[in-house]
Amino acid sequence: MKWKSQLLNLTPYQPGKNIDEVKRQFNLENIVKLASNENPFGSSLKVVEELKKVDGSFALYPDGYATKLRLKLAEFLQVSKEQLVLGNGSDEIILMISRALLKPGLNTVMATHTFGQYKHNAIVDGAEVREVPLTADGLHDLDAMLLAIDESTSVVWLCSPNNPTGTYITEEKLVDFLRAVPKDVLVVLDEAYYEYVVAEDYYDALDLVNAFENLIVLRTFSKIYGLASFRVGYGVANESLIKTLEPIREPFNVNTLGQIATLTALEDQEFVESCKIKNREGLELFYAFCKEHGLDYYPSQTNFILIDFKVDGNEVFQYFLERGYIVRSGVPLNFPTSVRITVGSKEQNEGLLQVMSQFLEEKAAKL
Ligand SMILES: *Cc1c(COP(=O)(O)O)cnc(C)c1O
Repeated sequence: MKWKSQLLNLTPYQPGKNIDEVKRQFNLENIVKLASNENPFGSSLKVVEELKKVDGSFALYPDGYATKLRLKLAEFLQVSKEQLVLGNGSDEIILMISRALLKPGLNTVMATHTFGQYKHNAIVDGAEVREVPLTADGLHDLDAMLLAIDESTSVVWLCSPNNPTGTYITEEKLVDFLRAVPKDVLVVLDEAYYEYVVAEDYYDALDLVNAFENLIVLRTFSKIYGLASFRVGYGVANESLIKTLEPIREPFNVNTLGQIATLTALEDQEFVESCKIKNREGLELFYAFCKEHGLDYYPSQTNFILIDFKVDGNEVFQYFLERGYIVRSGVPLNFPTSVRITVGSKEQNEGLLQVMSQFLEEKAAKL
């Protein structure tokens, strides 16, 4: 068959380990999954209540324009409904952007290391991928990214706060960057963890989408809203950008239950706020542990923390796994001696911290 040649070297996305699989493999009763930055507090109870009211009209296609959700979201974000594009997760919007703007002969600029889907999609679409290393502090090197842009650059990907480092781009740096990027280059600002940010100098990037007509901001209901299973994300940009992108979107890409769940979730900002606070308390526990044990980590504005154990990340991963904690090895994330840990509930965090202590003690004893 006439496959795109670039497909032959690609592997599918490797999800975090499945809970049932781990239970069986290690004969464990309780498994805590802190691998995919899901919300340990679930989602708003209002969503659960609302979904109980859903009648059985499952034979009907969803509202392809997600009208109710769109209106609610536009009001909530204080943008117009024409400034929104909704996706089957923000993953799908990444795919849509790639499909719309990338092809052989063009290139795309991104950090390394950052969220893997930018590169994955760019490869599928045959564009050249230009990866610019993060600084030693885990920050996007925006000056170097600017230098990597040329007349064949079509899309630049920024992730703030960045996955997997948890670090963020300051407003001043972002604005300077946007001023310098050629107007025919799309800048994607992926803010999947926006609602977790506590940095006092953080800003609302949506204020920039009208001033910079080549900027699109991505956010999602999968992280703090705890609705990852429904697959709803969105992009915000100026109206003309959205109008050009929209024909790429699949007609019924946001399903009916997802529309109901996310619309309801928007109405419970108390839930969001409480998750943000509890997450911060959890992060502080991990910070204290790292300081006590001399482990390096990046200060995080997200619900995960990348910790450097200075041994093979797969080994740390395996040790935690056998004791019932699924985290993400840093190896496939290109941080070979780190693991990325999603901040859990208080009980989950304390349990994992105990395992971490034990790991460090055993490691010290071996030396
Ligand atoms: C989780 C994540 C996404 C994907 O979110 P979905 O809306 O569930 O597709 C996008 N970008 C980053 C950086 C993420 O961590």
